[in-house]
Amino acid sequence: MRILVTNDDGIHAPGLKALETIARRFSDDVFVVAPEIDQSGVSHSLSLNNPLRLREISPRHFAVHGTPTDCVIMGVRRLLGDTAPDLILSGVNSGQNVAEDVVYSGTIAAAMEGALLGVKSIALSQAYGGAGRERINWDCATTFGPQVIERILAAGIPEGVLVNVNFPSCHAADVAGFAITRQGRRDSELMRVEERHDGRAIPYYWLMFNRGRFEPGAGTDIEALAAKKVSITPLRLDLTDEATQARYAAAFASA
Ligand code: MN
Repeated sequence: MRILVTNDDGIHAPGLKALETIARRFSDDVFVVAPEIDQSGVSHSLSLNNPLRLREISPRHFAVHGTPTDCVIMGVRRLLGDTAPDLILSGVNSGQNVAEDVVYSGTIAAAMEGALLGVKSIALSQAYGGAGRERINWDCATTFGPQVIERILAAGIPEGVLVNVNFPSCHAADVAGFAITRQGRRDSELMRVEERHDGRAIPYYWLMFNRGRFEPGAGTDIEALAAKKVSITPLRLDLTDEATQARYAAAFASA
């Protein structure tokens, strides 16, 4: 099995190393193609106005000065030659990608790009709590990652679907099992803008995440992580809302 490993945290991220180790449990035929610098939050963006600089770090390890989506395209269309990957693994992201995070995540976008290219793709993210991203317990992802991937592949990934896996913020020994979930929704205002001032008193701004209290919906990715379960969510590339489509079709039929 040929596996392409990528992420959005960049080529030096500890989670990328963890994911490469997980990938090697399945195959020796592993390529790593990851962004040169942190691309968290870039979603599914393509570099269309800048060239893609490529740096070969070691055999089968490449850094691309671009986005996660650029990396997947470079990997599949250029670096892997004539043999396409059988599996794309994206992550392991420093931090959860649940609920609205899915829309912003470069980690998930890389898996989406894989699915668009017809490759089975799984995004993996590791939640962290108050200790911060410098003190993430990677043992949860490294312990449960291989069996999660194995069981997903055994069950199958249909065309047009990718899988979003989130590991809870705890040690592997404290994991309470697996939950097959749906994408949740936070009921608090997510983004805010914070004003600061530079050395000349000129204001500048940071986008900040509000992490207010909210009730996780039943069966959601958020609820699973709160219960210390590994959350597994199948996501569709097709974003069509069928119920509204049918309602609009009826509404426009009489016009
Ligand atoms: Mn990230």
